[in-house]
Amino acid sequence: MSDLAITLLAGGVGGAKAAEGLAASVYADSTHIIGNIADDDEFHGLWVSPDIDTLIYSLGDQIDRQQGWGRKNESHQVLNELEKLGQETWMTLGDLDLATHIFRTELRKQGVRPSHIVHRLAKRHGITMPILLPTDDVIQTRVKTNLGALSFQEYFVRERCQPTVNAVEYEGASIAKATSESLSQIEKSDVILLAPSNPIVSIGAILAVPGIKDAIEKSNAYVIAVSPLIGGKTIKGPADKMLTSMGKTNDSKGVYECYAGLLNGFVIDDQDSMDATWLETQGVDVLVTPTLMSSTAEKAQLLSKVIEFALAHRNVRAA
Ligand code: GDP
Ligand code: CA
Repeated sequence: MSDLAITLLAGGVGGAKAAEGLAASVYADSTHIIGNIADDDEFHGLWVSPDIDTLIYSLGDQIDRQQGWGRKNESHQVLNELEKLGQETWMTLGDLDLATHIFRTELRKQGVRPSHIVHRLAKRHGITMPILLPTDDVIQTRVKTNLGALSFQEYFVRERCQPTVNAVEYEGASIAKATSESLSQIEKSDVILLAPSNPIVSIGAILAVPGIKDAIEKSNAYVIAVSPLIGGKTIKGPADKMLTSMGKTNDSKGVYECYAGLLNGFVIDDQDSMDATWLETQGVDVLVTPTLMSSTAEKAQLLSKVIEFALAHRNVRAA
């Protein structure tokens, strides 16, 4: 598979599951990941990049598998002490995790490219699958709600997704510059896969970096997405609520509409099979299959199936 180029656009938990599936498949050496940086924020003076760290800890087998984020065998001595000092500690950052944020912040202050910092962190965790950043600039999702504009972590962690979402904006996106690595990777891709991540705040934020969407449209790649909804619901997180508040239906059709014009293929769960006919009328190839990924075997099985489907349909389109 060495001459095959696969690009995975990934958010946090759903993105990491897809990345692990590819890493455990025959496509491991053919895959590059482009991760989401729009959930990044500063806590206690440290730059935290939740989705990138979820990717790194998952692929490096250091993730807390029960939570789906953070480090396994984690302690919280620093956070407990910060709380005693009267600091806000709703963002749970463990001691091992804090080392990552200290390292990232220090290198950023030295002027090291964020893309290179990710490379250093991935290397520390023994990860060979390249993790690229869509941009080295800062982009931050702002969730406009009935409580006012919130950062993504304020909305997601502090407010537990309770506020009504009126709109989502990607602050800094319009002036961000795409990395040359992500653009050239997209250009040479045979398959571009949009992970079962939040289509608005994870994949949407990557696509909001000027040049990324264009590069995908111009590439010869077969572009395919896996829906993050199963039976019209998310496994975890606010994607379904966000779809509704954006005036879209909270089902595979709503997810598809977020990617309108971009997709050649779309993967939906067995439980959403009733949407397949409508999706096909939109001109997209539809794969209906179980998409819940728990074990590594399930992740590898689904991702292998998705890539095989993409390659087979790519050949049909090219014929
Ligand atoms: P976050 O950044 O940690 O919120 O994670 P992502 O944006 O990458 O992914 C969140 C989405 O992943 C949610 O909408 C979940 O429904 C979806 N998800 C998580 N696990 C699975 C799974 O096993 N299968 C599918 N189809 N979706 C999943
Ligand atoms: Ca995220």
